Amino acid sequence: MNPWRESLQQSRCPADSRTVRHHSHSRVVVQTPLDLYAIALLLNYERASTEPRFRHAKLIDIATTSDSESSSRVGPVREIVRSQQWVSRTGPKDGFVFEKLSSAPRDEPDLPANMLPSPIPDGLKSLTPKNLETIFWQARGHDGCYKSVTLLQHFFDLYPPDMPLRVRTSAGADYLTSASTRVILELKLLKPKLMTIAHVVGSRTYITGAADTMMHAVAGFAESQDGNVATILDLASLQFGDAGRGVGGRSTFALESLDAFYDRVETIAVWADTDNARTSARIGPCSDDAWLKQVARRAKARWDTRDTHAWCGHCGGPGAELKKCSLCREEAYCNGAHQAAAWPYHKRFCAGRKK
Ligand SMILES: [Zn+2]
Ligand SMILES: [Zn+2]
Repeated sequence: MNPWRESLQQSRCPADSRTVRHHSHSRVVVQTPLDLYAIALLLNYERASTEPRFRHAKLIDIATTSDSESSSRVGPVREIVRSQQWVSRTGPKDGFVFEKLSSAPRDEPDLPANMLPSPIPDGLKSLTPKNLETIFWQARGHDGCYKSVTLLQHFFDLYPPDMPLRVRTSAGADYLTSASTRVILELKLLKPKLMTIAHVVGSRTYITGAADTMMHAVAGFAESQDGNVATILDLASLQFGDAGRGVGGRSTFALESLDAFYDRVETIAVWADTDNARTSARIGPCSDDAWLKQVARRAKARWDTRDTHAWCGHCGGPGAELKKCSLCREEAYCNGAHQAAAWPYHKRFCAGRKK
């Protein structure tokens, strides 16, 4: 039996879902559906670029699996490679040292592209843009799944309960449903395969994947009010490094079928307790709510002005310089690398592509 069915039915609020239809007696309201992939891009961009724990933090050093307690590392990274968690970890591990720049322009968004200080420290010169993107999300991913699920909740709270929602995945699923079909799934992961220690100089150290078990939270969506969950949105999947990239191995979040999600969690942990996944309609208040509500409102404002203010189909970044897909002239991208990264998804839906 699918454990989702029961809680989906319990979590529905018939009174809520009737509300909008009552209103429509007097006035027919035609709502343009929200596009879940676009919403995910906007929410992730607005969240990560303003994440308070890493606000204006530049990457100044990294440690990799081969760095040991006895290595000659100096400076703050030495604290990481000598920590008990690092020393006792035998499997893959990453250490990141960030330093908060007080001189950064106050409103400048934090992005993978501006994460390195100037001049670039010697040990970091060989990092590729994709490496930087992974590190950016991996560090911010600490507790990121709960933050992103809460953020999604705040976002949908800005709309009527049965707001129409279009769900499209890179595996080709394409259906129209309602925001009210969503649930929150919490899953226990046993022995995460990658440990991340992110240290912010003068502030705190965030450790992900060191404990034997950890909970992972994602959002699920059903094709209809009475259906089972068909699609999972995992906005913080990159907390597990590149294994968390979406279908095609390129996107910075995963929007995929329930089966594909279950397959993927088994690549990021030794075992995932899929039989006892906990589902809930809402989760609740969290200490970051004030910030996350701002993020949700910013994402909504960007969605509402989508006709005049495009965003990159890979990173969600805004910009006047975005380049349109030459086939459909609809999707836009920062550059060729971001277009290539989004292609496994966009090729399914590009209106200009010969089928
Ligand atoms: Zn981009
Ligand atoms: Zn296109």
